[in-house]
Amino acid sequence: MPPRPHPPFKSCPCGSGRSYAACCRPAHDGTAPAATPETLMRARYSAFALGDEAFVRRTWHPDHCPPDLHLDDGTRYLGLKVHAAQDDEVEFTVRLRAPGQGPGSFRERSRFTRLGGAWVYVDGDLT
Ligand SMILES: [Zn+2]
Repeated sequence: MPPRPHPPFKSCPCGSGRSYAACCRPAHDGTAPAATPETLMRARYSAFALGDEAFVRRTWHPDHCPPDLHLDDGTRYLGLKVHAAQDDEVEFTVRLRAPGQGPGSFRERSRFTRLGGAWVYVDGDLT
């Protein structure tokens, strides 16, 4: 399923306050790979929000990416807050609404690593 269109003038889904074109889109379209784990974490959140499953897959360490990943399950992503980013870890809270449920959230500390020169998501612990 192709990513849902997102007008370039809109603010980025990751909540940075910048436009999508100036924030996560360069990572999504490959013109500027994420330079830090936090940048990648934001771009992955935006990819979940926009339904860009290909980006989520290619930035997930292949040993950890679930084979049955489906971003078109109707989950709505309501917001991201990054609490801390240090070395190869980023701690954040995601607010979301799963199909048929009220708004919820989870807080996770994610680990990233470099693979072939690019940052990829490894895994995370709920905190
Ligand atoms: Zn962004």
